[in-house]
Amino acid sequence: MYVISDSCISCGACADTCPMGAIAMDDSLGRYAIDGNTCIDCGSCADGCPMGAIAPGE
Ligand code: SF4
Ligand code: SF4
Repeated sequence: MYVISDSCISCGACADTCPMGAIAMDDSLGRYAIDGNTCIDCGSCADGCPMGAIAPGE
């Protein structure tokens, strides 16, 4: 799965690019987060993040 770091500024761009709808605002974290059970590792979200906050994770 891909993961979002604390560099996220909650612009929301990544959520629109995800074909699985796996990205959403996480109010408890104060930033966007990826649902690892839904992510298919396509990488689309990482390419569009202005902060480079998205990368392949565990
Ligand atoms: Fe956060 Fe990047 Fe997604 Fe914007 S595109 S919400 S900065 S992870
Ligand atoms: Fe969605 Fe693809 Fe990013 Fe996973 S890697 S969160 S499926 S856009």
